[in-house]
Amino acid sequence: MIFLDNASTSKLCPPALAAAVEMGEKMYFNPSALYGEALKVKNAIEEARAQLASMLGIESDELYFTSCATESNNWAFEKGVKNKKGNIVVTKGEHASVYESALVQKSKGLDVRFVSLNKDGSVNIDDLCSKIDENTCFASVIHLSNETGAINDLQIISRRIREINPRVIIHSDGVQAFAKEDINLKKFGVDMYSISAHKVGGLKGCGALYLRKGIHIAPLIAGGGQERGLRSGTENVVGIVGFAAAAKYTRERYDAEKIKEMRAAVISTLMPLGIKVNGNAGGAILSISAEGIKAEVLQHMLSDKGVLIGLGSACSSKTRNNRVLSAIGLSAKEIEGSIRISFGIDNDLEQAIFAANIIKEQIITLRGNIR
Ligand code: PLP
Repeated sequence: MIFLDNASTSKLCPPALAAAVEMGEKMYFNPSALYGEALKVKNAIEEARAQLASMLGIESDELYFTSCATESNNWAFEKGVKNKKGNIVVTKGEHASVYESALVQKSKGLDVRFVSLNKDGSVNIDDLCSKIDENTCFASVIHLSNETGAINDLQIISRRIREINPRVIIHSDGVQAFAKEDINLKKFGVDMYSISAHKVGGLKGCGALYLRKGIHIAPLIAGGGQERGLRSGTENVVGIVGFAAAAKYTRERYDAEKIKEMRAAVISTLMPLGIKVNGNAGGAILSISAEGIKAEVLQHMLSDKGVLIGLGSACSSKTRNNRVLSAIGLSAKEIEGSIRISFGIDNDLEQAIFAANIIKEQIITLRGNIR
């Protein structure tokens, strides 16, 4: 089996698995308990926090663990948007967990402004700036698109936003960028940043939210007061310790050059079929459209051949998501034939070439059946 759907999730990496076994078997104590064993568990959480924080260029006490990035994004919106009479600015390229959170605010009567995307999938910064005004209280710009792989330059974006209104709270969904791109949130100038463990070789069901010191938001989940009172619930120790181990492992093995080679191999194999590369950001996420086919059918045929690819955001695969692709100008036909191939640290060039030939063969078969 060749797994080319790494943007949807990733395999649990060896150090995260080892951490899970260690924490689950030997260090299973509740970190809030007062005996020595529990203190060791608490310390393991703090070590994990410090390691993740250093990868983000922030201080440890600015990172809060959550149950997933969806929760982090919901929390950012639900509690970060405080001025209920102001407006919020969100890009059209956001993951559903941000987009839907913005729609919740809209349903509460807030003025929500959606910013257009460039053809390459990045946010149109001029349009973004035209939507920011003195009443903007919150802005959210995805760091690396889960649909097209496009990267937004957060440093430039936050500077431009603050030139217009320095009080805007700036959030970014960093799920696809974390442990793959160089990240320094202080340099980027954002106030909030969401990350997720299962995209970097960690367990599903563990995420975190960066909250810049000085940004005060209420908890989304009330209870026993864990995470310095901001996120209650007994900590997912296994997930948290594994998250840090996985992020380090992935960062050390993520080879942008190798990814480029795999990407180029797939594109050159499929080009003779007249496929279109959507956005063409050059990274691990490759969105392509092959007209004349139904992507779902191709996906099934490929899975029968042992090649797993995506159709875009897995979270919305039931309602074939075309919001982001249509925002970069794809036609309905192009969206219907669009697939997402996403590479990870376990893939190699040989796999990419092998998979590309199978994809090519199946597209030809499908087109032949249609004619
Ligand atoms: N944001 C982006 C960009 C994603 O790709 C995903 C996962 O698909 C999420 C948020 C949600 O992450 P989680 O599965 O941890 O809730």
